[in-house]
Amino acid sequence: MESILIVDDDINLCQALSDELREVGYETTFVNDGDQALIHLSNTPADLVLLDLKMPGKDGFEVLKEMNEKKINSKVIVLTAYADVKSAIDSAKMGASDFISKPYDFDELLITIRKVLQKDG
Ligand SMILES: [Mg+2]
Repeated sequence: MESILIVDDDINLCQALSDELREVGYETTFVNDGDQALIHLSNTPADLVLLDLKMPGKDGFEVLKEMNEKKINSKVIVLTAYADVKSAIDSAKMGASDFISKPYDFDELLITIRKVLQKDG
């Protein structure tokens, strides 16, 4: 079973998204800030991280930066509250595989997740 770590300061979003992803067969965990995300990934690698960019404390960009430094090579799909082209480009430069804007469409998100998890490397 492929594992997905959801990182978002919106607890309701984490819970809803986690439930939806479990229903379609993924193993999920969620955390609500960047520090918890990095601790979790150091202990338990995930196949995929769904990463909110805007969080208090360590934001998504800082998480991406530290993941690179710590050579944590989980794939990352960035989530952000609106279609922000610059953030998409910046996060892609830092290793994110794809980008989804919130409020997310679950079917669209699922297509993106499947696509990213199928890619090698
Ligand atoms: Mg947020």
